[in-house]
Amino acid sequence: MSQDLERYHRQMLLPGFGETGQRKLMDAKVLIVGCGALGTVIANMLARAGVGHLIIIDRDFIEITNLQRQVLFDERDVAEGIPKAEAAKRKIAGINSQVTVEAIVDDVNHTNIERFATGLPGVGKVDLIMDGVDNFETRYLANDVAVKHGIPYIYGGAVGTVGASYAVLPHTVAPGETGETPWEKSGRATPCLRCIFEQAPPPGVNPTCDTAGVIGPAVSIVANYQVAEALKVLTGNLDVVSPTMLNFDLWGNTFKQFKVQRAYDVGECACCKKRNFEFLDGKFGSSTTTLCGRNAVQLTQKANGQKLDFDEIAKRLEAHGKVTANKFMLRADITDNGEPYELTLFNDGRAIVKGTKHASVAKSIYAKYVGA
Ligand SMILES: [Zn+2]
Repeated sequence: MSQDLERYHRQMLLPGFGETGQRKLMDAKVLIVGCGALGTVIANMLARAGVGHLIIIDRDFIEITNLQRQVLFDERDVAEGIPKAEAAKRKIAGINSQVTVEAIVDDVNHTNIERFATGLPGVGKVDLIMDGVDNFETRYLANDVAVKHGIPYIYGGAVGTVGASYAVLPHTVAPGETGETPWEKSGRATPCLRCIFEQAPPPGVNPTCDTAGVIGPAVSIVANYQVAEALKVLTGNLDVVSPTMLNFDLWGNTFKQFKVQRAYDVGECACCKKRNFEFLDGKFGSSTTTLCGRNAVQLTQKANGQKLDFDEIAKRLEAHGKVTANKFMLRADITDNGEPYELTLFNDGRAIVKGTKHASVAKSIYAKYVGA
């Protein structure tokens, strides 16, 4: 066995894997959208398995409350205040130096996700999209890209003690036609996420990490299930990819596999049947997001590609409270009308205002202390 394969010996022993499967993994490019609880487990396991190229996108930085479940991070990352994607890249470099990681610190939205999945320089079209996000808007974006470009997409979600996962092997042509992908040629295409969940649940209806909390094992199980499906897809073992959706509750002690094929057969899916990519087209979406698990709002302020001048802003904000900055972000404690807020600015123009769940308040704080 050549030296570069030695570390993968135990998984290469598996039926349907071998050196051929391993070489496929080493040639594979995987986009991981979100590097929180799900994303850290996914990135960790895919890197150890030897997936050659990982593109990790996350807009957030690491906080102490993340360490309970986000397995790639530690207390030093919290102290340094570095972005999650960058921290993940550093950790993976020490886990498997054969893996190339692109760390992208950005908000994923309809204007950029297609580029991340199909058009990054030196990467091109990825082989797989992994869901590590905490909201349905971004999931629908990932699903749209997957269906439009014929890229498998593996959904995962966890909150409280429950979790769900499902592999989309997308239809790339209208019903009745046979597409060119290996899964369509072999009759193994599956319903897309919008076939199954036509619309996102309205705000306040579903529990979130805010209201329900979350335990580490729930996210770990989901993420590892996603990784298992990913290894099947990437090694070409499409015949063993699960056509059902996993749902479990660790407190209720239930594990279920739901049959979903009917959702495609009888449904009128706007995405994979009618080929209307409504999320990608920006028909749905927002420029402010209330952040799951925190009393905070994110503002997306794409400033013509201009970088913020952190030194200048820091000088202005120092009069209002404590300011810290590094090359990735600036953070300031601000008291406004007697209320404490924490304002974080990223060098791509995004901002997170902590201390409110209201977009209007967040916009006002931003306008007051940073400027429109
Ligand atoms: Zn569909």
